[in-house]
Amino acid sequence: MKVGILGGGQLGRMLLQAAANYTVETFVLENDSNCPAAHLCHHFTKGDITDFDTVYTFGKYLDAITIEIESVNVSALEKLEQEGVKIYPSPSAIKIIKNKIVQKQFYKTNEIPSSEFIVTQNKADVATHLNFFPAVHKIGEGGYDGKGVQILNNEQDLDKAFDAPSVLEKKVAIKKEIALIIAMNDKGETAIYPVSEMMVNPALNLLDYQISPATIPEKVLWVVEAIAIKLAKALKSAGLFAVEMFIDQNDDVWVNETAPRVHNSGHHTIEANHCSQYDMLWRIILQYPLGNTAPILPAAIINLIGEEGHTGTAQYEGLEEVLKIDNAFVHLYGKTQTKPGRKMGHVTIMHNNYHDLTHKANKVKNLLKVIASSR
Ligand code: ADP
Repeated sequence: MKVGILGGGQLGRMLLQAAANYTVETFVLENDSNCPAAHLCHHFTKGDITDFDTVYTFGKYLDAITIEIESVNVSALEKLEQEGVKIYPSPSAIKIIKNKIVQKQFYKTNEIPSSEFIVTQNKADVATHLNFFPAVHKIGEGGYDGKGVQILNNEQDLDKAFDAPSVLEKKVAIKKEIALIIAMNDKGETAIYPVSEMMVNPALNLLDYQISPATIPEKVLWVVEAIAIKLAKALKSAGLFAVEMFIDQNDDVWVNETAPRVHNSGHHTIEANHCSQYDMLWRIILQYPLGNTAPILPAAIINLIGEEGHTGTAQYEGLEEVLKIDNAFVHLYGKTQTKPGRKMGHVTIMHNNYHDLTHKANKVKNLLKVIASSR
């Protein structure tokens, strides 16, 4: 089979690492010919994944296409789908998820719990909804890694509001942020990964530490899993879906957002689960049985993020020390240049008890730094 990936970042790179275990010819489309996935595929095409003609031409002779980022040209994928190319996830699912306004409306229509919201067209519009505060403002399209999200607690925060079509949603009193990856094949069969629990770096609004399986009460887990299944069925699409959710102070569960692809919250599945999320997606695309999602050991993911004040050729301080730790698995994404906040790699740690796991995760966080060499 000839399979294309739209986007050539680290998710594409890890997807390609898993592809090497199967008989599949891989194609990557990405604007940067030095991107993390460029050298692991059979065929690399330099081009814009948001451009209709580029995506259509790239996909025309392929058997299947998947994505590693949502900002792709959906119209081209729709045309390719009509012409018989299999798309994972379906273009209709990407369309729903790509725009946060449409995504929120989809949750509402399908009775999937997600915090109450209003659609706003511009800043002035937001100012008329002060009674809805404290709220979170999310730009409809184009936001990622926290860049399209602003917390608006009171009138003084109005300046931060987006002057573009956005969602204004009620701020949830978050107890835990979790994510769950659900896989669905063409037959509608599903497989669910254990829930991951995350901690965000408030300064950068980036996920920087994560544990899986999450320690949540069984009753809450059932709700979380039921929501994920309902969501995947409502999207009516085969593929992999990472559902980010909040558990609030009352143990109610709210969907934050969904990613229709392999996801950061599943990096650890490479070592810590029998079938990784990347392997799972290939099984779906290549029409093989779904894999075993069970955990081998509890795991933590530490993201390696470019240090503040360091821009230039990347160097990894503390790598030797980290590699001495039992069950520490280092993944560097092959990005030569670092800058503050850039995702450069991750480390997965596994341990059979959570106390030691947390301890080791903190040790890795403190040891390993992405800095710029003075060269
Ligand atoms: P991105 O897609 O850019 O990562 P998210 O929608 O995940 O953006 O939001 C980033 C962070 O903002 C979340 O991880 C969470 O901490 C906070 N957040 C988002 N929505 C809400 C909400 N409704 N209530 C409280 N906090 C929220």
